Amino acid sequence: MTGKTHIVGGIASSLAYAHFMGHDPIIMLGAGIIGALLPDICHSGSKIGRKLPLLSKLINMLFGHRTFTHSLLFIVIVAALLTSYVPSEAVRDGVLVGMASHYLLDMATKNGIKLLFPLNLTVRFPLTTTTGSSVESLFFSLLSIASFYYGYIALITYF
Ligand SMILES: [Zn+2]
Repeated sequence: MTGKTHIVGGIASSLAYAHFMGHDPIIMLGAGIIGALLPDICHSGSKIGRKLPLLSKLINMLFGHRTFTHSLLFIVIVAALLTSYVPSEAVRDGVLVGMASHYLLDMATKNGIKLLFPLNLTVRFPLTTTTGSSVESLFFSLLSIASFYYGYIALITYF
C-alpha cells in the first residue's frame, strides 16, 4: 500500500478507537499517523524512510523489507518502549492502533508481511490486491469516508 493509504488508515483507525475508548482524538490522530507510517521505516523510499534515511538503510540492511518492522515482535517492543517512556495512554494506543492498521493494509497485498518474524512465514489475507491498484483506491476512499465520519463525531463531541 502507498503512504497516503497508510495515512488515512491511521487516521480512520485512531479516530474510531478514540471515539470508542473516550481518548483525546487530537492526540490519538497524531500518534495514529506516526504509527501508521512507522513500519515502513524498513523501506528507504517510504515517507518515513526519506525522513530518516540512515536508520532506514540500516534496518533494511539488517532485516529486509516487510519483515521485523511488520511483525508482532516489533509491535510488542514498541508497546513496551511507549509504556516505559511515554506517560500518555492516548499516545501509546494511537501509535499501536496506527501500526495495526498498517499491518492489516499490507496483509491485503500480494506480498503480505512477515507477521511472525523471525519465522519466515508470509501472512496475507486470502484475497489480496497490488499497491497502486484500483482496489487500493477503493480502500483509500472508504478509509477517507471513515476518517471524515469519526473526525466529524470527534468535532461535535469535543468542541
Ligand atoms: Zn508496510
